[in-house]
Amino acid sequence: MFQTGILKTKLKFIKMNQGESDFDIPVPWFLIKHPAGNIVIDGGNAIEAAIDKRAHWGAVVDAYDPVMEVSENCADQCRSVGVDPGSVRYVLQSHLHLDHTGAIGHFPNAQIICQRAEYDYAFNPHWFARGAYIRADFDRPGLNWKLLGGEYTDNYDLFGDGAVRMIFTPGHAPGHQSFLITLPKTGPVLLTIDAAYTLDHWENKALPGLVHSSADAANSVAKLRRIASDTNAMVVTGHDPDNWQTFLKAPHDFYD
Ligand SMILES: [Zn+2]
Repeated sequence: MFQTGILKTKLKFIKMNQGESDFDIPVPWFLIKHPAGNIVIDGGNAIEAAIDKRAHWGAVVDAYDPVMEVSENCADQCRSVGVDPGSVRYVLQSHLHLDHTGAIGHFPNAQIICQRAEYDYAFNPHWFARGAYIRADFDRPGLNWKLLGGEYTDNYDLFGDGAVRMIFTPGHAPGHQSFLITLPKTGPVLLTIDAAYTLDHWENKALPGLVHSSADAANSVAKLRRIASDTNAMVVTGHDPDNWQTFLKAPHDFYD
């Protein structure tokens, strides 16, 4: 479990209609070592957010201000734990918002897996979501995309061994997906990503501050809660400053 710094924001931009108080959130991402190939999930902010955030992100910095060192980019953090970016076989995208696209284009041999609904929307978002999609992050030449849809929309099992499953959880974004990871010793770990930003979202006390469909978002939380209950998974919410503190963090600690 890694993070690329924090976003300084206001409570209302994370929890709908819950006020103007300052709220700092971590920007998590994940590295999985699997015998069939290394996997990066999301990758946090792009390195450009550490170099010149306003040039790369534009006015959205006024709502979500990234505080990140250049050294926190996901490729260098992989190197810090002995993982060569060239060895990463898959980059899995929960969705394509700006604090999740840092891996795209930085793992030269990786296939990038995303929902087709999310990919298509990212090129033509509604006005209210436009600031969250940085086209320069995902509209690059030479990328190897695999876009999920149709019968492969939900519960796609990456290796066919149950280790990495993608769970379709639209709402926060139209093609959002979460991840159910089953580790040999730890067991099931449910990465809600932004289907539940925080435990308040998980417990139906908040809707996302940025949302495509509130009804879908509520249905997706209900779906993930059923999965967590059925599997007894460890639940990792997307951006909860307190919940995130409780987990073992790279580069020093990890789950096996
Ligand atoms: Zn998001």
